[in-house]
Amino acid sequence: MPLADYHVHTRLCNHATGSMREFVERACALGLEEMAFLDHLTLTPGGQRLSMNPHEVGLYHLAARRLEKQYHKRIKVKIGMEIDYFPQGMGLAKELSCRFDFDVLTASVHFIDGWNMVSQKTQDSSPFTDPCVLAERYLDALEGLLADPFFDVIGHLDIFKKFSGKAAQIPRQRMEGIIKKIADAGLCVEINTSGLSHGAAEIYPSAEWIEGLARAGVGVTIGSDAHAPKDVGRAFEQAADLLLRCGHTHFTVFSRRVPQRIAL
Ligand SMILES: [Zn+2]
Ligand SMILES: [Zn+2]
Repeated sequence: MPLADYHVHTRLCNHATGSMREFVERACALGLEEMAFLDHLTLTPGGQRLSMNPHEVGLYHLAARRLEKQYHKRIKVKIGMEIDYFPQGMGLAKELSCRFDFDVLTASVHFIDGWNMVSQKTQDSSPFTDPCVLAERYLDALEGLLADPFFDVIGHLDIFKKFSGKAAQIPRQRMEGIIKKIADAGLCVEINTSGLSHGAAEIYPSAEWIEGLARAGVGVTIGSDAHAPKDVGRAFEQAADLLLRCGHTHFTVFSRRVPQRIAL
């Protein structure tokens, strides 16, 4: 099945390994049809060291476009950014997004009350002892993002379960309300396989979200969240099976921010 990995990082974010070319080579070796660089742009205080510097965006864009040209006979290389949702930084994030012709822009919530829930190896530092409270606070932030739907894709939608797994259940009504807002905003949602390597031990988001997204007609991208070349395309067959079981018939790719649905 020709698939596309729409979430690949680079060393510019200071917590990934391997050259950009090695990520592309790995994607070619796996026979992927497409891949998209989606490196971090985090303007949130406390998160900048885990992100490319705003001054590096042009260099990053140029490097990816060069690889797109060099590899165009073997794979489609796309370029995007994973932008951390931070209300006070959205002006600069949008300005940088519009300065270059990105293929896809993903927005992700990583920080809750200044605590980076995604970069932690364990939940020991968490100020949230109740996983349901963390989930609710995360969804509050996500609703802020959805009120200003500038982006194309929502990254790792239920990342709040990273450590707690199923313990972080949220009311069905709230989940459906959020799915409706995503559908109304015309956004896609990422099916992120990195959750399989985390405490959650399952793909982000869970099957009940994926089913709800299918019912609402929301498109999906598939991403490994690779921070090393070996993780490109991680568990993509499993992701495709899950999508089909949950009622999706297509996944989405982007060119210059225009979506195109591809049959699974
Ligand atoms: Zn990262
Ligand atoms: Zn992320």
